[in-house]
Amino acid sequence: MNSVVEHLSHLIRIPSNSAVSNRSVIEYAAEVLHRAGWTTRALSYRDPQQVEKVNLIAAPRGQNISDHHADLVLMCHSDTVPFAPDWEHALDPQIENGMLHGCGACDIKGFLACILTAATSEAKFLDGLRIILSADEEIGCIGAAHLLADNALRPRRMIIGEPTQLHPARAGKGYCLAEITVTGKEAHSAHPDQGVSAIYNAARLIGAIEKLAVQLRSEQNSFFRPAFTTVNVGLIHGGTAKNIIAGSCRFQLEWRPIPGQAANAVLDSVIAIITNMKQADPGFHAEVRPLRQQAGFETPASSPLVQQIERLAGRPAVSIPFGSEASLFAPVAQEVIVFGPGDMRTAHSSRECVPVSELEEATRILRTMILRA
Ligand SMILES: [Zn+2]
Repeated sequence: MNSVVEHLSHLIRIPSNSAVSNRSVIEYAAEVLHRAGWTTRALSYRDPQQVEKVNLIAAPRGQNISDHHADLVLMCHSDTVPFAPDWEHALDPQIENGMLHGCGACDIKGFLACILTAATSEAKFLDGLRIILSADEEIGCIGAAHLLADNALRPRRMIIGEPTQLHPARAGKGYCLAEITVTGKEAHSAHPDQGVSAIYNAARLIGAIEKLAVQLRSEQNSFFRPAFTTVNVGLIHGGTAKNIIAGSCRFQLEWRPIPGQAANAVLDSVIAIITNMKQADPGFHAEVRPLRQQAGFETPASSPLVQQIERLAGRPAVSIPFGSEASLFAPVAQEVIVFGPGDMRTAHSSRECVPVSELEEATRILRTMILRA
């Protein structure tokens, strides 16, 4: 039987950024689970680059895997972000001062190693227990969306892996993104009346969006810091030359809605601003292309799942500032928490690591959760 560190070390050695197929990670996990008597069901799809991606559902021995009602689901994504070429040991795990370093150490192979270790037990598992391993989380929770579209599983309670330093995270902001293209009319800059500047118009629109961002601060959820929906224009591109009135200007608008606020609330407000600007100025033209619409999630502090993990981990519930698959599953499951070893502040960088003690503690907590009392 492998230890959690052995599983994690093996998993880190498998290249798994979202651009490549996740099949090798899934095969490793499936083999470990099969050896422990679990049955698995693979649901694969092709990504837009025609690369095969695999979601996996697993059920303990003796449980009917085709029953799509589940009492407790442990969910973990199987992809990582790409790593910098100068990170020599990204796929070569190292332990230093009690920390295991490597790409995916905390996001998310650490939690996966804990699941695999906890699932290897001679004792009886809980009825209605399932494990879900998903693909393509890092590029927009694509695998999870496939699982929901297929109605593959109806979970009552879910523990979704992400590094939370073993705090049960019971709320998270959503993640939304749109691309806005403002179109003007090109002309020689010496003759401004011949054209319409897309850059001036985009600047007016961004000014209005900034005012909207200030208004959004009044709607607060005190479980978060900052407590309101944040809005960012992080990327802008426009114009062709210094002496040409810009014919086009494109920018990306990102917002992170607090739970309870509809994922499209900000988008609807932006569309209303554009409609008003069009009415006031027939030369104003802007188009919005929504790229991502993920609401936040919030499980009540009184939820038995939250309280059970708080007790087992000896740590209070928190909120998370990053997006996760919890946003997708919260509307279908009754209780959803995000939980896992490691600190997200080290993830997505060459500093990524996970404390070995937290791997062991998470394994113990998961084992208590999934075994029949
Ligand atoms: Zn993750």
